[in-house]
Amino acid sequence: MTWPEELAERYRREGYWRGLTLGEAFRDWARARPAATALVAGARRWTYAELDHAADRMAAGLAARGIEPGDRIVVHLPNTAEFVLVLLGAVRLGALPILALPAHRSAEIVHLCRHGEAAAYVAPASFGGFDYLALADQVRSEVRQVLVAGPTEDLPSWAVDLAEVDAEPRDLPRPDPGAPALLLLSGGTTGLPKLIPRTHDDYLYNARVSAQLTGLGPHSVYLASLPVAHNFPLASPGALGTWSEGGTVVLARSPGPPETFPLIEREGVTHTALVPALALLWMEAAAYTRRDLSSLTLLQVGGSRIKDEDARRVTPALGCALQQAFGMAEGLICFTRLDDPEHIVHTTQGSPVCPDDEIRVVSPDGADVPDGEVGELLVRGPYTIRGYYRAAEHNATAFTTDGFYRTGDLVSRTPSGQLVVQGRVKDTIIRAGENVSAEEVEAGLCAHPAVREAAVVSLTDPAMGELVCAAVVFGGPPVELSELRDFLRHRGLAEFKLPERLAVLGELPLTAIGKYDKKRLQARIGQD
Ligand code: AMP
Repeated sequence: MTWPEELAERYRREGYWRGLTLGEAFRDWARARPAATALVAGARRWTYAELDHAADRMAAGLAARGIEPGDRIVVHLPNTAEFVLVLLGAVRLGALPILALPAHRSAEIVHLCRHGEAAAYVAPASFGGFDYLALADQVRSEVRQVLVAGPTEDLPSWAVDLAEVDAEPRDLPRPDPGAPALLLLSGGTTGLPKLIPRTHDDYLYNARVSAQLTGLGPHSVYLASLPVAHNFPLASPGALGTWSEGGTVVLARSPGPPETFPLIEREGVTHTALVPALALLWMEAAAYTRRDLSSLTLLQVGGSRIKDEDARRVTPALGCALQQAFGMAEGLICFTRLDDPEHIVHTTQGSPVCPDDEIRVVSPDGADVPDGEVGELLVRGPYTIRGYYRAAEHNATAFTTDGFYRTGDLVSRTPSGQLVVQGRVKDTIIRAGENVSAEEVEAGLCAHPAVREAAVVSLTDPAMGELVCAAVVFGGPPVELSELRDFLRHRGLAEFKLPERLAVLGELPLTAIGKYDKKRLQARIGQD
């Protein structure tokens, strides 16, 4: 499934699609600034020219191992140089990386290998205390080859040391810029990930336009704090956007302050991106750190909704500007702009990055709702997919007949065009026939001074169908459910929306990228 020719022509005419492959684009960036530092990973540093050459060797090495253009490779690497080398090598060859997140485990990886009919699986031997080699053993029957990034003493006979995937560069057939370059994963908090085909043309635009609206330039230093296999730190603007402007990408092995703060100080990091839960952690740690964070100019926060009151704290706590980012691996990206007034940056998730992003906010019957009212967000545009990979049945409902992607996100639009994320269509609790938006109750709970974090889920109940259950992490001494209910009542919430159960937790379970994992939360509360 792809764009109709008339739209494709428009996107080319407007200069969004430039007919370049990712491999060619990186070559151009390397020619423009060969001696500049492109990548810092641990103690190792690469100039643009070195990285470009290493990508050629990786592409040739993969080809020599029998990987062909069009083959899929499940890449399950953390934030290490090998991730970058495999990504750049694969796209240059025209093989499609399927970008798994380090936190994925056998259920997801087996699914990705099978569904993607992958030729190869690439993993570290071990990382973060997890034995990826044992996982590779479980999935090796699904693929032709298992490639392992070191340290690799005692490598089993069925695995190949990634360091040996290396060959003299040679001419390779040119991939089609309009064809998929890579497969990202859908970020749902339920079910197994779906595969999102992103073309060379559309993904390069995604990175370029994001870089421009984030103010990246040749002197910028971008820290990939989140797993770089995710669309946000990879291309929104992330690593690819930074390279498109000639800047430096620094990879953090983990996103917490003990790893990232010293890197910010050492490398003079100017830009980074976090999910709200991590932004909160950074703000707390910044109050005590002796590290110099003054080089930081911009923190992007996205992936899930940051509370308005937390958004207001970012600049005082970290000394940098905040940019809210609301986007999805399927395409659409919204940013608050660097020159937006404070109230917009603090209370909205920004506006679409492309003038040709077509946005609709619709009621359940599909009618457009006026500004200020909540509806489901539908989108189509030059970097939003027209269909998931090999998912005809799902595509029939995930897209409208005229090609809009149904995001499943509930939003409202401000008169000045920003979107405010109000929740998920499926994150509605139906209590005795009344609809309760989890997000609305969460926002109310988070306004209580004792509440640090809150997630609202449904519990099945024979009488009511579903009950509203609040899972809360308190910042200090806990308060009773009755007090929280009074507080919400006082804020004007209807009686049927008030939580009937309270689960007090030390922390909320998170997904692979750091969003609240409501499925696990529900299972956990259900067991108590
Ligand atoms: P992913 O594809 O993993 O980036 O997930 C995309 C989904 O994350 C979106 O459809 C939203 O549901 C959610 N999301 C991303 N950014 C935000 C944000 N700033 N506020 C609220 N939800 C967000």
